[in-house]
Amino acid sequence: MPADPAQLDQDHLWHPFTQQQGWSEEAPLVIERAEGSHLIDSDGRRYIDGHSSLWCNVHGHRHPAIDQALRDQIDRVAHSTMLGLTHPGAAELAARLVEIAPAGLSRVFYSDSGSTAAEIALKMAFQYQQQRGGEHSRRTSFVHLREAYHGDTIGSVSVGGIDLFHATYKPLLFETHAAEPGDAADMERILSSVGDEVTAVILEPLVQGAGGIIVHPRGYLRAVRELCDRFGVLLICDEVATGFGRTGTMFACEQEDVSPDFLCLAKGITGGYMPLAATLTTEAIYEGFLGAAEEFRTFFHGHTYTGNPLACAAALANLDVFESERTIERLQPKIRLLEELLEGVAAMPEVVEVRSRGVMVGIDLGAHDPALRMGHRVTNEARERGAIVRPLGNTVVLMPPLSISEEDLRRLVQITADSIVAAAQTADLAQ
Ligand SMILES: *Cc1c(COP(=O)(O)O)cnc(C)c1O
Repeated sequence: MPADPAQLDQDHLWHPFTQQQGWSEEAPLVIERAEGSHLIDSDGRRYIDGHSSLWCNVHGHRHPAIDQALRDQIDRVAHSTMLGLTHPGAAELAARLVEIAPAGLSRVFYSDSGSTAAEIALKMAFQYQQQRGGEHSRRTSFVHLREAYHGDTIGSVSVGGIDLFHATYKPLLFETHAAEPGDAADMERILSSVGDEVTAVILEPLVQGAGGIIVHPRGYLRAVRELCDRFGVLLICDEVATGFGRTGTMFACEQEDVSPDFLCLAKGITGGYMPLAATLTTEAIYEGFLGAAEEFRTFFHGHTYTGNPLACAAALANLDVFESERTIERLQPKIRLLEELLEGVAAMPEVVEVRSRGVMVGIDLGAHDPALRMGHRVTNEARERGAIVRPLGNTVVLMPPLSISEEDLRRLVQITADSIVAAAQTADLAQ
């Protein structure tokens, strides 16, 4: 008899973003299998994957084309390095990413997580300014948005704006300037005063995900791009969450016709199959690093599993499926349906505000005593009703796979609404 995974977990694991004391007080849900938009637990119970397995899954689980691409790749090679060697999948994927990315992005640097994609953009931007020299070497700080999230490595945390996650590390972080989300006047004020010391502005375009699904007013991204140009500052767009269709277009930048100097991609890049990330940049930035070896203008950065062949195979198949299934086109009526369904949720007395763009949804339950763990209560109620959702504080997040059926979408919203009512009732009893 193999040991019980729930017991082994309780005995040995430490989970990300998890208070282990609470974790060890509840039996963990063990996911064994999945199919399309459904996760299946060790007792065979099915759940709608309401957060796309943490915002990654795109075309559903066990998609035949992506499964097959991985099987085919494993018969060739599972891993070979990008340091000093290349391979067909990495090269083809780079060309295809450049083809679909906003105009002007022509170079692809791989890594393996969203945090590293952002970290790389920060380091590249900084080194680029240093190597330009003269006035530009004074450009040593960054501007980020309040409530920003760019990952958990120290560089990415430095440009993070979520106090709960980031404040502890303050002594370890580099200096930055924090701008008010969605407020172009505040960005202008900051760049007017310190713009000549700023390397780059980094932001999540259109929607700040982990900050609580904060939706920017239309025109904000465009305005920030223009401000960056005016003050000679580079623009890093972190589309780790918004990329690959999540806001209704392949990339969020497209909606305001913006080309950043750096584009960070991860999460959906392999359809939610493998850890892979990419930092795209322009030919101008790339050329700033060219020189003889002994000039040491090399970008000295690279992770061991960078550009992993299995991950690249999954990413290529992911892009193929976008084409063969016309994913973006077929997503549009689902977005309209979702918006309609959310009108009902927004009208619920327990709900303060619903924020959404595309299939990124935040249902804000307002301020509650943290000890009540409102978001967690909703998660548990949703589980009993057959859906997996994960809150950000008191905001319930829905982020279904783009391939979700209209029927499952309706069920997901219904389960969420019912769970919010039930959670509010149990919270009342607990008080
Ligand atoms: C999730 C996320 C990251 C970090 O990605 P990891 O793969 O978890 O390191 C960075 N930026 C944004 C916008 C994200 O949503």
